[in-house]
Amino acid sequence: MRKTKIVCTIGPSTNSFEKIVELLRAGMNVARLNMSHGDLTSHQETLNLVKRAREYMKLPCAIMVDTCGPELRIGTFKDHRVELKKGDKFIFTVEDVVGDSGVVSCPYPALLKVLKVNQKIYANNGLLEFVVKEITKREFICRVSVGGVLSDHKSISIPHIRLPLPYVSEKDDKNIEFAVRNDVEYISASFVSNKSDLDALKRTIKKYGGRQEIIAKIESLEGINNLDTIIDACDGIMVARGDMGTEIAIEQIPAVQKNMIAHCIAHAKKVIVATEMLESMTTQRRPTRAETTDVAQAIYDKSGATMLSGETASGCYPIESCDTMAKIALATEKMVSYDDEFLCNYTSVNKSLSAIAYSACASSRAVGAKAILCFSDKGKTADAISRFRPKADIVAVTHDSYTFNRLALTWGVTPVLANEQKTQEEMLALASTVAKNLKLAKTGDKIIVTLGLPIALKGTTNAIHILEVE
Ligand code: PEP
Repeated sequence: MRKTKIVCTIGPSTNSFEKIVELLRAGMNVARLNMSHGDLTSHQETLNLVKRAREYMKLPCAIMVDTCGPELRIGTFKDHRVELKKGDKFIFTVEDVVGDSGVVSCPYPALLKVLKVNQKIYANNGLLEFVVKEITKREFICRVSVGGVLSDHKSISIPHIRLPLPYVSEKDDKNIEFAVRNDVEYISASFVSNKSDLDALKRTIKKYGGRQEIIAKIESLEGINNLDTIIDACDGIMVARGDMGTEIAIEQIPAVQKNMIAHCIAHAKKVIVATEMLESMTTQRRPTRAETTDVAQAIYDKSGATMLSGETASGCYPIESCDTMAKIALATEKMVSYDDEFLCNYTSVNKSLSAIAYSACASSRAVGAKAILCFSDKGKTADAISRFRPKADIVAVTHDSYTFNRLALTWGVTPVLANEQKTQEEMLALASTVAKNLKLAKTGDKIIVTLGLPIALKGTTNAIHILEVE
């Protein structure tokens, strides 16, 4: 079974029932809705389709609502796009104008107070570059230093400045209300720079009565510098290489990515490597060799998940992209010596749950168990076991459909939905049956089972069985 999870962004290329079913068949584990594009009505339709498709396929699939964050977006153009050339003069104005090749609306007056002459501004994930030449009361006048195509609503980034915007904007407040109302499993939070951004987000989730896990997208220098406190305050990290690539020198990204993955594993948090992983597949059926190696490298480093953005949202080959990513993951995972490297994860095993999880992994390694089955209400045991990246497949048996879908993002975990068991004997018998049904073990093989005793006591995993499959 594939251990590394795949996040697919849903967009015009995939927002139909048939395409979402095809993505699930190809290996999608998480469907991401990017709130920076589309409106709440279209997102509602997509979300309903994902829920219908995952039920139809009887497959776990988490839904992730990706907020806009404190980002700067330009307005629209008369012809929806303009081509800018090096040396052109181009104006960003706070006025509400329809843009053309000389001007575009950028409705953030507070920005005028923090901008400085000679500041660089990027658009299109850094493909276009501007230099600020003059700042007036209503506009900043730039010179194009790297030309290209600029289209409606593109985001712009201004390295190393703290945007004078609240972390949860009015728009994101509505997006979070939408995520909570639909009881999605994850909120990925754009442009998290520090712990107080996460505090603001948590207050908003709480205000609407939500229970979503938070994936903090790290995409600014401040976010990179505050990694430790951010990791402590969220459920996982997304290495958001797109915007990050305009904030730090491009050659620093591989090291930052490696460091983030290692930190998340050490702190038992989820980690997703994102953006441009199979970018060429937006227009071509096969990826480049370099992209293939990029996906594989994230898997060698044991990232919890890899992500597809434009490839599945607006590309010509969305299903092929997901299928290719799944194949690269499966082939690469065969080359990783999970159990040999397991012991080096023996850090911060300081709570009962992590001690049990560690012991389950150590036992599976010692007896060559094919699978670790955990009975998990909320999925916390499965998360805890996953963090040690064992070689054995992890199966989380749960009666809770929210947990079933939530665990679709947890590295190495296959969630299984089952009725609640009444006795320990019933649980062990079910563990054997599940392991055999999933073809993880046959009669006589050993599996590890974790459960909480007494059974009536919910949320306490405190026992490990080494079980011979009947
Ligand atoms: C990124 O910048 O890498 C990213 C994942 O963010 P988004 O796709 O929301 O732009």
